Amino acid sequence: MDFDLTPEQLDVQTLCREFAEGEVAPHAEEWDRTAQFPLDCVRKMAKLGLLGLPFPEKYGGAGADTVAYALAVMEIGRADASVGITMAAHVSLGTAPFYMFGSEAQKQRYLPPLTQGEQLWAFGLTEPQAGSDAGATKTTAALSDGSWIINGTKCFITNAGTPMSGGVTITAITGSGSNGKTEISNLIVPQDTPGYSRAQPYKKMGWRASDTRELSFTDAQVPAENVLGERGHGFHQFLDVLDGGRISVGALSVGLAQACYDAAAKYAKERVQFGSSISKFQAVQFQLVDMAVEIELARSAVLKAAWLKDKERDFRMAAAMAKLFSGEVSRRCANAAVQIHGGYGFMEEYAVSRYWRDCKINEIGEGTNEVQRMVIGRLLGF
Ligand SMILES: Cc1cc2nc3c(=O)[nH]c(=O)nc-3n(C[C@H](O)[C@H](O)[C@H](O)COP(=O)(O)OP(=O)(O)OC[C@H]3O[C@@H](n4cnc5c(N)ncnc54)[C@H](O)[C@@H]3O)c2cc1C
Repeated sequence: MDFDLTPEQLDVQTLCREFAEGEVAPHAEEWDRTAQFPLDCVRKMAKLGLLGLPFPEKYGGAGADTVAYALAVMEIGRADASVGITMAAHVSLGTAPFYMFGSEAQKQRYLPPLTQGEQLWAFGLTEPQAGSDAGATKTTAALSDGSWIINGTKCFITNAGTPMSGGVTITAITGSGSNGKTEISNLIVPQDTPGYSRAQPYKKMGWRASDTRELSFTDAQVPAENVLGERGHGFHQFLDVLDGGRISVGALSVGLAQACYDAAAKYAKERVQFGSSISKFQAVQFQLVDMAVEIELARSAVLKAAWLKDKERDFRMAAAMAKLFSGEVSRRCANAAVQIHGGYGFMEEYAVSRYWRDCKINEIGEGTNEVQRMVIGRLLGF
């Protein structure tokens, strides 16, 4: 086994760490407080190639592997979870479906502006009545005179309403198959499509600087050719997309957990009670040690899932395990970090209070903890 990173992976990690420390972390508190989408920062990330990191150069990407991409999300997420999810959702949910399933013409047309970060792209799966049970989609698309007429609502969609958003790919019922089963396809909906509208951003507990909105489709019309890949393959396509997305949310969780550890370790060394640094008390030390152990294991799990994907091996179980474990680790680390800060951890001016709000979504987005356990259970043969 070789646990060393390649020179290319180390370069990406260093680039992202320097960018995150210099351009992201100093603004994270303000972006969170004002729930302001960090447009300039995302544009700078685009210039560095971060929005197209794991895609081939022939489609405008940076040609990095999944391990490098996971390391990048860890570094950005360590500085600001909102910026991290903006990047991860664009890459893994918005852009990857075009690369994974698009026809060559769709790849040529849609990928370059996304991989080069001229536009952000969203993926609309969740609906008010179809969350964990995402196949229960109610949105419909009917073919009429060479166009799809789309009607329905999507909720909690990331990156659909920013000034850079180019469009969204959505799941919709496009008919019923020969066996009478509902046929689901993925449809490409550009931002300026008549009948496609976006609500005001949700007011969120965490990830406050990321863009999350409800989307409405009222007789929204797109050309027949806007089916992503093959018609009727939407259900399997989105399951595959989510498998890859789990690696990036796992990476985001590791980044946040690391930020919790960094803040708690620093504070524990500085804070004096009973005439001694609180880091000298074993009860505090043990919390820090447990954080360090869990972060190490979570990081290894995420990188292993990424490595399996790069080797084109079956990474589904590894990704679900990594996402599940890392999400829980981020919550435990955020809790411990606030605890170690005492009352100061409850105050907005300490970053750990933001981490505590940001961590919870890691156990919900891209499949809840319960859904990850269902996926793992199924793959274990239960
Ligand atoms: C900030 C944010 C950003 C998001 N971004 C996107 C996005 O870009 N695109 C997108 O499509 N979606 C997005 N989502 C949606 C997200 O993926 C869903 O919220 C998530 O999958 C859970 O669905 P739900 O909220 O409807 O919960 P539900 O499915 O209603 O679940 C409620 C509870 O019931 C549990 N549960 C449900 N079914 C079972 C079962 N069979 N067994 C045991 N427990 C069960 C769940 O685990 C959960 O605890 C986002 C959500 C948020 C909050």
